[in-house]
Amino acid sequence: MCGVVGISGIENAAQQAFLAMYALQHRGQEAGGIVSFDGADARVHKGAGLVSEIFHRDALAELSGDTAVGHVRYSTAGGGNLANVQPITAKYARGSLALAHNGNLTNQLALRHRLVEEGAIFRSSSDSETLIHLIAKSREGTVDGQVLDALSHLEGAFSMVLAVDDTLYAARDPRGFRPLVIGRKGEGIVIVSETCALDILNAEYVRDIEPGEVLKIHAGDMEPLRSLAPAPERAPCIFELVYFARPDSRIWGVSVDRARRALGRTLAREHPVEADCVISVPDSANSAALGFSEESGVPFELGLLRNHYVGRTFIQPDQKDRDFGARMKYNPVREVLAGQRVVVVDDSLVRGTTSRSLVRMLRQAGAAEVHLRIGSPPVRSPCFYGIDMPTKSELIASNLGVDDIARRIGVDSLGYLSLEGMVDAVKQAGPYCTACFSGDYKAPLVDVGEGFLTLEGPATKELEPSILGAGAGAGVD
Ligand code: AMP
Repeated sequence: MCGVVGISGIENAAQQAFLAMYALQHRGQEAGGIVSFDGADARVHKGAGLVSEIFHRDALAELSGDTAVGHVRYSTAGGGNLANVQPITAKYARGSLALAHNGNLTNQLALRHRLVEEGAIFRSSSDSETLIHLIAKSREGTVDGQVLDALSHLEGAFSMVLAVDDTLYAARDPRGFRPLVIGRKGEGIVIVSETCALDILNAEYVRDIEPGEVLKIHAGDMEPLRSLAPAPERAPCIFELVYFARPDSRIWGVSVDRARRALGRTLAREHPVEADCVISVPDSANSAALGFSEESGVPFELGLLRNHYVGRTFIQPDQKDRDFGARMKYNPVREVLAGQRVVVVDDSLVRGTTSRSLVRMLRQAGAAEVHLRIGSPPVRSPCFYGIDMPTKSELIASNLGVDDIARRIGVDSLGYLSLEGMVDAVKQAGPYCTACFSGDYKAPLVDVGEGFLTLEGPATKELEPSILGAGAGAGVD
């Protein structure tokens, strides 16, 4: 997953982009970058790590101008090298390009294959670079036309901010998988993945960018361009509400906190349990656990503490790091847990490795019973639209039924929210993409081809690796 930012018509735009990226850090902790524009003069600073590690005062001072594009990055496995860090930059016939993309394209290998055969030289393995080539090669007579032409070739998920010199373009794919919102700060315009980034800038929320909408923004003035061809239906990602977005954000017009509480309340109705306290796996399950407690009347307690100086455990692409990370990240509060029948609420169960470590921890801290409740259905299918999910074989629920999972994790009982219950609890912003839970993929998986569910992940055999480069297919989301 990634977070994107665009700033137009605000002095020291890079400084504003930095703050917005700081608020969007939860969407990607692996790398980040800002490109600023002073007229046609583009300046770039990118690096690995957290926003606070990448940008020091001197680096920010160099990024002059009233226009900026920013990106925080998490990549799918294999795509973690520095060449893939965004914004992606290039110079072409009409000016300097900078692209920040959230989402995954599902036809990038097919497009890339064609472009490479036509002579394009790719510098990265990122799916987003495809768009840069499509723009540069477009035969449309204007930059607006080239951008629209290039976007019309893309399939899959994209919420993006693109700069051509100091003009910004902001676009969302026709199904609207990923969020993207517009804010106003004084005379300037701010585009960000989530509203929590508007708050830090003291910017006023204007509206969401609509699915398929393409905006052109220059010096704080915003103009809608022709929309992309409509999709049969909208498909905002329900996992953004379940896990990814910050609870203090509103996405698709819904408060993420309220949505998660509703999920927790439904979960309590579907899987009640006799218990002494409800605890959450902090922080992503806090709101759902509160909802569970409100509905069940079982008191909410702080039974697990999270060390905030460790990144998201899941977010380390390497499996060994992740197991270690879970132990580093949480610590039980013995005084809360000893002798208690505990309901643990987590937002999702993916590989099951976090829960397994946590349950051991809770029992060692003296919990008499541990009942795990999950605020979403079993994750059975990988996401091809930008949420980093392991391959199907690594998803615990694609291999085991609920009873086996409960045994594997070591809980006294396990209850997942039902698919219907989840969708119904947050129906005001639907319909949704629920592919990771239901296997119902909303945008064509061009690169994956027929029978992909039997393959180990999104790799495809039809395209030759020698043409595509070793890392091709590594998505940037
Ligand atoms: P696991 O140990 O694989 O079952 O990890 C599940 C935990 O990771 C849940 O508690 C979620 O809060 C979190 N999580 C779920 N999906 C993701 C994701 N795509 N990226 C990062 N963290 C995730």
